[in-house]
Amino acid sequence: MPVPVPKRRTSKSKRDMRASHWKAVSPTLGLCPQCHQPKLSYNACPKCGYYKGRKVMKSEEEKKKKKEEKK
Ligand SMILES: [Zn+2]
Repeated sequence: MPVPVPKRRTSKSKRDMRASHWKAVSPTLGLCPQCHQPKLSYNACPKCGYYKGRKVMKSEEEKKKKKEEKK
């Protein structure tokens, strides 16, 4: 079976036109409904550990407490 092969080398112009669409995207930031701190959307809040009105992970304060207990 023949493999499809480009007939012509991509010109500088066409190559650079493609490159113009390749850029960094800024992360979607939102406010936490629990502690009203800016956080990443669709991620648990790192400050209070809440996501969709439910506690899903340890908050920053609880992490600090754990560290103090170890010392
Ligand atoms: Zn929060």
